[in-house]
Amino acid sequence: MTTEHRKAPRKKVISVKRVGEWGNVSYEHLLSCGHVETRPRKASTDSLACAWCFKSKNLGKELLQLGSSTSAYMDDDESSGESMINDIRASIAARFNVSLEAVDVVSSIENYELKIKYATVFLSSIDVGRITKT
Ligand SMILES: [Zn+2]
Repeated sequence: MTTEHRKAPRKKVISVKRVGEWGNVSYEHLLSCGHVETRPRKASTDSLACAWCFKSKNLGKELLQLGSSTSAYMDDDESSGESMINDIRASIAARFNVSLEAVDVVSSIENYELKIKYATVFLSSIDVGRITKT
């Protein structure tokens, strides 16, 4: 969505990494917020709109509200679930040798227990080429 990028906060580019091969190069822009924006070209500005920040902003607000709530039980439950999902994302990312941002894990809480529903791995054409080439 276009509104998503317009609303996305601009973050300072910390470093740019050139990735890919066979003339199929893209640039990973490490932003000051810790997210990585992959673009086909090197950014000409020193800051980029971070869609990841925008996406996680609403979630962050929810977590913040949970943290300040009196229900400590819910808070603990939430944070352990969060770290479990992060662990799963990290191991999937390592398996495919992609960035953490390329992995999306969808879960739900049933009877106070975290259930993984499914995971999505976004593969760029470079990743596909790398994985399918034997
Ligand atoms: Zn960000």
